[in-house]
Amino acid sequence: MIKNPHGGKNSGIHVTYKHDHNLYGRLVYNMGFFDIFKNEIKTEILELDNIKFQVKIHYENRRNSRASIGARAVHIRIPVFLSPKQKLKEELKLKSWVERKLRENIHKYKIQQPKEYKNNDIIKISDKEYILKISFKNKRSSSGRLINNEIHLSVSSNLSKIRQNKHISKLLSRVIGRERLPKLQKRIITLNQEYFHQNINKISFKNQKTRWGSCSGKGNINISTRLLFAPDDVLEYVCIHELAHLKEMNHSKRFWKLVGDAMPDYKEKLKWLKENGGKCSF
Ligand SMILES: [Zn+2]
Repeated sequence: MIKNPHGGKNSGIHVTYKHDHNLYGRLVYNMGFFDIFKNEIKTEILELDNIKFQVKIHYENRRNSRASIGARAVHIRIPVFLSPKQKLKEELKLKSWVERKLRENIHKYKIQQPKEYKNNDIIKISDKEYILKISFKNKRSSSGRLINNEIHLSVSSNLSKIRQNKHISKLLSRVIGRERLPKLQKRIITLNQEYFHQNINKISFKNQKTRWGSCSGKGNINISTRLLFAPDDVLEYVCIHELAHLKEMNHSKRFWKLVGDAMPDYKEKLKWLKENGGKCSF
């Protein structure tokens, strides 16, 4: 498996404020029923120097407040049992800490920006350009299909802008991934015949955000659709990496020799992924 350098649950920075309240796990007697405080998430956008950061405020069953700057969003966690006034106070304290941290080195913490799509946008994937045709419909789900080089998306109008954008990027990944899958399968099968000679069960494109590729002992290989934004040889490197794992389920010297035998300059591809991987996303 290849991890995205921007991924990882514990990446980033965090700060914690302790509370001395004894209210942890408190139940409220209400109208004859016991109500447990309900967890809730609120999403906000913080804009600094024209760079937008997504801030997720979690109200949850916890003792202390905490903020962390992660790969895709800033997370602020507030104990759900605090009073509205206390919640606000905690939020402001953590928000100002986050802002100060981000300003110290905005590019270090630059979070992968979710792309914003609009009608007639052009999406370039290697040698092909797709034209985006978005229509909004009053329904719960969203769907998409490819007609020649046009991607027609029908998106739910009942969602927030952020959610709509998420639906669009998911659909694009699915529609384009489906079109590109036969080529990927052919390539992996050819590489396997040439270098690895393993049993392959299923090859899929997956909308994986924290991994470039993964494989299983059953011979299933998953490749992240984000690699469609990478040069062909980088995508090929990830295929080789996963194929080599079918022989060596580790990152031992023997594993890297298998990779090197199939692609002598693989280190350059790794370097490309480290430097540019963050830009590859739907
Ligand atoms: Zn690996």
